[in-house]
Amino acid sequence: MSQLNLHSPLAYLKGVGPQRADLIGRELGLWTVSDLLNFFPNRYIDRTRFYRINELQPNTAEVQIIGKITQIKTVQQKRGSRLVAVFEDGSGRMELVWFRGVKWMKDKLIPHVPYVVFGKTNVFNGQFNMPHPEIELLKDYKKGVQSAMQPIYPSTEKLSNKGVTNKIMIKMVQQLLVEHPRIQETLSQQLLDKFKLVSKTEAIFNIHFPQSQTALTRAQQRLKFEELFFIQLQLVRKKLIRKNTIKGYVFKTVGDYFTTFYNDYLPFELTQAQKRVIREIRSDVMTGAQMNRLLQGDVGSGKTIVGLLVMLIAIDNGFQATIMAPTEILATQHYNAITEMLGDLNVNVQLLTGSTRAKKRKEIHQGLQDGSLQILIGTHAVLEDKVQFKNLGLAIIDEQHRFGVAQRAKLWMKNEIPPHILVMTATPIPRTLAMSVYGDLEVSMIDELPPGRKQVITAHRFDSNRLSVFQFMKEEIAKGRQVYVVYPLIKESQKLDFKDLMDGYESISRYFPKPEYQISIVHGKMKAADKEFEMQRFVKKETQIMVATTVIEVGVNVPNASVMVIESAERFGLSQLHQLRGRVGRGAEQSYCILMTSVKLTSDAKTRMATMVKTNDGFEIAEVDLGLRGPGDLMGTQQSGVLNLKIADIVKDTAILKRAREEAITLINEDPNLDLPQNQAIKKTYTAIHKRRAIWSNIS
Ligand code: ADP
Ligand code: MG
Repeated sequence: MSQLNLHSPLAYLKGVGPQRADLIGRELGLWTVSDLLNFFPNRYIDRTRFYRINELQPNTAEVQIIGKITQIKTVQQKRGSRLVAVFEDGSGRMELVWFRGVKWMKDKLIPHVPYVVFGKTNVFNGQFNMPHPEIELLKDYKKGVQSAMQPIYPSTEKLSNKGVTNKIMIKMVQQLLVEHPRIQETLSQQLLDKFKLVSKTEAIFNIHFPQSQTALTRAQQRLKFEELFFIQLQLVRKKLIRKNTIKGYVFKTVGDYFTTFYNDYLPFELTQAQKRVIREIRSDVMTGAQMNRLLQGDVGSGKTIVGLLVMLIAIDNGFQATIMAPTEILATQHYNAITEMLGDLNVNVQLLTGSTRAKKRKEIHQGLQDGSLQILIGTHAVLEDKVQFKNLGLAIIDEQHRFGVAQRAKLWMKNEIPPHILVMTATPIPRTLAMSVYGDLEVSMIDELPPGRKQVITAHRFDSNRLSVFQFMKEEIAKGRQVYVVYPLIKESQKLDFKDLMDGYESISRYFPKPEYQISIVHGKMKAADKEFEMQRFVKKETQIMVATTVIEVGVNVPNASVMVIESAERFGLSQLHQLRGRVGRGAEQSYCILMTSVKLTSDAKTRMATMVKTNDGFEIAEVDLGLRGPGDLMGTQQSGVLNLKIADIVKDTAILKRAREEAITLINEDPNLDLPQNQAIKKTYTAIHKRRAIWSNIS
């Protein structure tokens, strides 16, 4: 047994045969000694406290009781039998119940000697019972090591069915810690000193068997820091390596396209934030390294114009540029907005989507290859292999969270030297999340809305208020404004949703009759061309009301629309609600967003409505959203690698995360290859982690 090392399979542990080891491996993903040491309890219970039976309350968590068995009986039931032991402690009586291992247990139980039982209690027929308790003779219990806080390890049904109880897990870990009293340090002495962190050995001991609450907290702090630190180290180092090794095109000059456009075509004065971001991007694309930049900005903050200006710099330097959007409507909208802004400036811009006709498509392919086509706007269609550029210098990805990693990676393949990449977010991402998921990208922020924007006034109304909402819509339409009415569309209940939409459309049609009112309708079952036709009617003010599913969620821009009514708003997530609200408030007029819900709401839904009513700030909303949904849900499963944390919590451990990132940056700046003697412990761990899983959170 002294041969045991961290890489030894669990089967080498005393009392763990190959079968059990295999089960634990498959159920919990623990295969080696090291896996087990790093398998942390998810909570602790106080085993120094004993309850009396007459103290028990319905729904108490696990309790521990000392008493004696006074009677044992087997009760036949439909399938098999159950074992019932009457258990008394002088203050009352209860039943211990087993449904499995009945015969074995029955032989084992000894009446009239003191036992310690531990487990969850239920109430049945006015009497407490404890199914499948942990049970131990009091005299054995006294011999065991009792730590004040007993770990409870995550488990699975299969494990407990096969008898791998929490107690067995505890024994395994205990045995390991006895045989492995020293665990290798993974951080440098400097870091330990600087943040007063406990050693790895101490942390591992106390995370499993905390000697006190304080000791547990210190162990957790240390392990959380370590976990976040190594993730940040990977991200920061990746960023550095990319900067140093991946060549990028140099956009030397700002030429005629940019200058002419800026001086003569720009429809408005840029905000300070927009100007700053353009400067940041410019300095990136001049360095000779590939740019990888995330552009964060709230809905309506004016990211598109920034994208256009940067594309003009690209074509000024003889390169092609592309902007990709997640939906056809949005791509079309970008195309229209961009061609309109460019006016008679001589730039060759084309739109490529799934519904581009074969002939046009051919023409586009040709233009891209011979270089005559300068800016390509499109959907996923841009990524197809057939789409080959002569010299793609810049790729912009709008509303990035909808594109998968693999798809983004394809952009890289379009050239020998990868194009500069600018990723634009649909809605702000909380800082801590951005740090984790996009920690290897440069980040720019547009933290200022164009001037003259009025805050959208948001109200929460119940379905019963619908008539007054309709009345309000009428008043706004009378002022010459336009109105969106949006219905949810969720895959699982498409049929029902579609019915809701149609019912809604009918009742709106009744209340807003032709010819006085014209109504557009857009939904997912329509052909692209029909959608576009209806959209255009609304854009041209031929219709006053746009009834739609969430296809309009992203990007649609109709400044004259001043009211956004969201039906069944409780079914939308916060970021979606914020996106939808962003469709109004784009013109000079006061705009409104009305959230319609039923009266019965979950507490999460209430929080979402209240947050929307309270604030227009996308960053604030993103923080609330993160708290409600957790990081995994917020970012989608692609990023789970970075977000699947063992002990740290991105929402709660913000302070630790920031420190970990700062330290990772400092370290990489001082010692990029981790060569200094004091950093060898870090290097060893880093290398091991890096081998196991690279982080593919983003564009590379
Ligand atoms: P988003 O950041 O949500 O993509 P857009 O780029 O669609 O926002 O811009 C929203 C609206 O604001 C557009 O109508 C755009 O023309 C306008 N806009 C952008 N920048 C400015 C500015 N500096 N001044 C005035 N209007 C602006
Ligand atoms: Mg946009």
